[in-house]
Amino acid sequence: MTKEIVLASGNPGKLREFRQMLEPAGYRVVPQSDYQVSEADEPYFTFVENALAKARHVARQTGKPALADDSGLCVNVLGGRPGVLSARYAGEPKSDDRNNALLIRELSGIEDRSANYYCVLVYVRFADDPQPVIADGRWFGKIIDHPKGTNGFGYDPYFWLPEFGKTAAELTPEEKNSHSHRGMALRSLLEKLS
Ligand code: IMP
Repeated sequence: MTKEIVLASGNPGKLREFRQMLEPAGYRVVPQSDYQVSEADEPYFTFVENALAKARHVARQTGKPALADDSGLCVNVLGGRPGVLSARYAGEPKSDDRNNALLIRELSGIEDRSANYYCVLVYVRFADDPQPVIADGRWFGKIIDHPKGTNGFGYDPYFWLPEFGKTAAELTPEEKNSHSHRGMALRSLLEKLS
């Protein structure tokens, strides 16, 4: 039997990725916009708290099982920043170019460029579910000073992957999905759901 999951995101790219992975496993993924869900607050300092808040919010407003994700870039020498603020690191309005410029400025003259992309997924069967299913993934790389590649989004042109000798923006979508923090978290979630 097909089970419906409401995705706590309005991002069409995420919807496509989640559908590709969850539909073969018997889940029908519908966007929160199908239910006119209002925007959830994301006031917390950790990815998992924000994802849980988003999933609960959608489950409460729709009465359906809900899946939320939260992700970002964590740079070791910056104490994990930009972290949960990754999308708006350089302030409003959101801008990948300004975020990247700020990051490179902050790392100027610093040798330790180690960083990781992190993604957490939270699935709740209902709003007050005491046992949310939580899966996460990390992808390790280094921040470089000059951008390379045009694929991907966000910090990808500056995220260098020693195992490929390329940035994340130089990978094909398939290569990225099979190695990325989001791909890892999704595979782990599927295992847990099954
Ligand atoms: P969100 O999960 O849509 O809130 O994304 C958070 C932010 O983290 C994005 O806007 C990007 O700045 C960054 N981010 C998360 N995943 C990636 C990725 O795969 N590539 C590049 N940037 C990412």
